[in-house]
Amino acid sequence: MLRCEAPVYRPRTLTDAIYARADMPDATVIAGGTDVMVYLESGSLKPTRFLDLWDCSGLRWQQFITGGQFCGAGLTCTDAIRSPQTHPLVREACSTVGAVQIQNRATIGGNICNSSPAGDTLPVWLALDAEFELASMRGRRRVPAASFWKGYKQIDLRPDELLVGVLLPQTTGETHFRKVGTRMAQSISKVIFAGRYRRGVEARLAFGAVGPTPMRCREAEAALVAGRPVDEVVALVEAEITPIDDVRSTADYRRKVAGNIVRRWLASL
Ligand SMILES: Cc1cc2nc3c(=O)[nH]c(=O)nc-3n(C[C@H](O)[C@H](O)[C@H](O)COP(=O)(O)OP(=O)(O)OC[C@H]3O[C@@H](n4cnc5c(N)ncnc54)[C@H](O)[C@@H]3O)c2cc1C
Repeated sequence: MLRCEAPVYRPRTLTDAIYARADMPDATVIAGGTDVMVYLESGSLKPTRFLDLWDCSGLRWQQFITGGQFCGAGLTCTDAIRSPQTHPLVREACSTVGAVQIQNRATIGGNICNSSPAGDTLPVWLALDAEFELASMRGRRRVPAASFWKGYKQIDLRPDELLVGVLLPQTTGETHFRKVGTRMAQSISKVIFAGRYRRGVEARLAFGAVGPTPMRCREAEAALVAGRPVDEVVALVEAEITPIDDVRSTADYRRKVAGNIVRRWLASL
């Protein structure tokens, strides 16, 4: 059985959580705990204390706002799957996380802050031009998803800050999500793709698990908007991503699959 003596502080409101974070920048923030528990079990995490956001009411909601939508960081994948307000791309990504037991605990904020390049929701935030809202005693700031993941497991989050939620602007265009893993459930991604395309206007081709951070293929996006041939767009995708060989797959396989996903999606349009 997993034992840990570190004390747990469990705020009930967002204000309390922000105060607590300022007092305890050393604490390990825990939301659903599905990543944190794995680190604890493996011994890679040595917590001094925990700031547990699970009961923090101000984080677990979503609503439409002027010009878009706000999704609280404490929304679980199950919340997102069940809510009629959820953007289809977000729902699809949340549906592929782990299995039902994991989805019941895993939060979107945890997926974003854990910042695994293989996090299933991450390319979705890039494809939707999301901004992340971060709060501390000093105030709030918004960081575009495109600049939040700074390097492998490095994020633009200061020690006294919490991720409060995600702002999704109103967007247009066809969208597509695809996760390639070994199985349908409980499978860590080999390649994840989220795309959005409005012919002649804008394109987002966002990938996960093909580099140290989730990424957009900006040259391929520009070629697509300019009406360049699909072969050229696919070649740019394959050139822009930086996959590696690891226990789950090879770089060659990932590159080929990434290109195929884009080719098939564009053909279907
Ligand atoms: C069996 C299993 C299967 C899984 N399958 C998948 C999968 O298919 N796809 C996938 O993407 N992931 C998968 N995961 C990983 C995990 O479930 C997800 O990353 C999940 O979204 C994490 O959310 P959480 O709320 O549990 O995060 P936690 O474990 O609570 O936290 C994760 C990290 O984020 C930080 N954090 C959390 N919330 C905040 C906040 N509001 N502000 C600041 N920091 C915060 C924590 O400090 C921690 O560093 C799996 C995990 C397990 C155990």
